[in-house]
Amino acid sequence: MRGGRPTPKATVAGPAAVVVGGGISGLIAARELALAGSAVTVLEASQAWGGCVGSHVVAGLYLDSGAESFATRSTAVADLARELGLADRIVAPHPGGAWVQLPDGPQELPKTGVLGIPANPWDPEVRRSLGLAGAIRASLDRWLPASVGTSSDVTSVSSLVRARMGKKVLERLVSPVVGGVHSADPALLDVDMVAPGLRAGIRAQGSLAAAVAAQRKAAKGSGGASGPAKAGSAVAGLRGGMNTLVDALVADLRERGVKLLTGQHADDVVKAPEGWRVTAGNATYDAGRLVVALDGPAAVGLLEKSLPELSSLRPAPGPLVSLVTMVVDLPQLDGRPRGTGILVAPETPGIRAKALTHATAKWDWLADEAGPGTHVLRLSYGRREEAGGGGDVVLDDESLLAAALEDASTLLTVPISQADIVDWDVVRWAGALPFAAVGHKQRVAQVRQVCAAADGLSVVGGWLAGNGLAAVVADTRAQLKAAPADGSLAL
Ligand SMILES: Cc1cc2nc3c(=O)[nH]c(=O)nc-3n(C[C@H](O)[C@H](O)[C@H](O)COP(=O)(O)OP(=O)(O)OC[C@H]3O[C@@H](n4cnc5c(N)ncnc54)[C@H](O)[C@@H]3O)c2cc1C
Repeated sequence: MRGGRPTPKATVAGPAAVVVGGGISGLIAARELALAGSAVTVLEASQAWGGCVGSHVVAGLYLDSGAESFATRSTAVADLARELGLADRIVAPHPGGAWVQLPDGPQELPKTGVLGIPANPWDPEVRRSLGLAGAIRASLDRWLPASVGTSSDVTSVSSLVRARMGKKVLERLVSPVVGGVHSADPALLDVDMVAPGLRAGIRAQGSLAAAVAAQRKAAKGSGGASGPAKAGSAVAGLRGGMNTLVDALVADLRERGVKLLTGQHADDVVKAPEGWRVTAGNATYDAGRLVVALDGPAAVGLLEKSLPELSSLRPAPGPLVSLVTMVVDLPQLDGRPRGTGILVAPETPGIRAKALTHATAKWDWLADEAGPGTHVLRLSYGRREEAGGGGDVVLDDESLLAAALEDASTLLTVPISQADIVDWDVVRWAGALPFAAVGHKQRVAQVRQVCAAADGLSVVGGWLAGNGLAAVVADTRAQLKAAPADGSLAL
């Protein structure tokens, strides 16, 4: 894939830079460095580029195996896509919306929220989900002082939501969404990492509902989807899948002369007076500038020899997330029984999945590719329920498939059997989703302070930026742009 960029391609020159990690943050960092004139080498441990923005082929369909959409609360991802010549590929999801499976049955998920937090507790969909007492409690938010939920002792998503809108909003709306997106209980997650800007929004707008409404308004139109965007649609995608962004970035980097090396697992990093030395297997790479674009535990593991202060700031590993993708021939699913998919509330009996994405119902381009009657279903397993452990028991592929068939049949209310399956696949993401435990935001500030003191070092990625492409793209570009071109990087 080729991008129509305005900037001329540069043959490499200037100081050398090494980027460790070829996920989206590493690729973007490499592009920023190349744009600034550095001779860049990217080292990726696996054989594929993009990290969590991966792809796989199931039943002959080229599908996203990790991230499949991006948040439109900012223009960060859409801007990058446009720079890479992908403007006309940005699409809105089907306007059907998603559902939530609660212990007392399925319900449509209100479309006007952020992380399930409603902009208006009296919206008919929200009111139906919360019940009268729940809606009354949620609307108390409007009269509470802005200090409630914004003080320093309120640090988790659940403490914020509970304080302002009550238990019903937390259990029936927020927990399923947070579980689906972050694979963790909202009581464990740092609100400022998971819902950036929300607490500042409460202070500015006076209530949580108003802060959510303001974020939704900002999201409207910022995704730049060419299709008919659902009112305030919070996400957008790319025709062909999010993995096309990686293809475009890799093509762009090649054209700029960036050296892209797969199968290079960085084992050691040493700070020398003249720069950094990275060892990957038998090879060594010397550079004045180093970008570490890995998950948190791996980044700290690599850097702690040079920066021992980082050891105490090592984040807990993220949960193991297993994704089961099934391509089924089942025309009964043409009617999109649960819209674009369904999130599962934690206490829902009999269902092990935390979310099901009906990909062919969500993305029209994929439905066209699959053809009538053929459907792509993706179920995710694994959830961090308690600090320091938890999550599902690890199942083998066959057991996961059996669970997925059972869960999909219940969730979609259409019996699905082995005989309906054209092809299937399991992808496991071990520790790839950062676990932004309470206090994470503070730790991020400390990590950045330690790294800023080391000349020529940038550390980027979802564990520092916050989970999700919108956060990672914006933060990586900001970090690299803030770095001086002479090799000493200020973070
Ligand atoms: C299953 C799943 C679904 C997701 N869905 C969405 C979504 O729909 N929308 C959204 O916005 N976000 C989504 N996300 C989150 C989003 O994909 C991530 O926030 C983002 O891609 C993280 O990028 P990164 O560059 O920080 O890290 P990564 O993608 O983890 O990249 C790190 C890279 O470093 C490599 N590496 C590791 N160790 C070494 C080493 N020692 N030497 C060299 N290379 C090494 C890895 O192989 C990897 O390629 C999802 C994540 C997952 C796991």
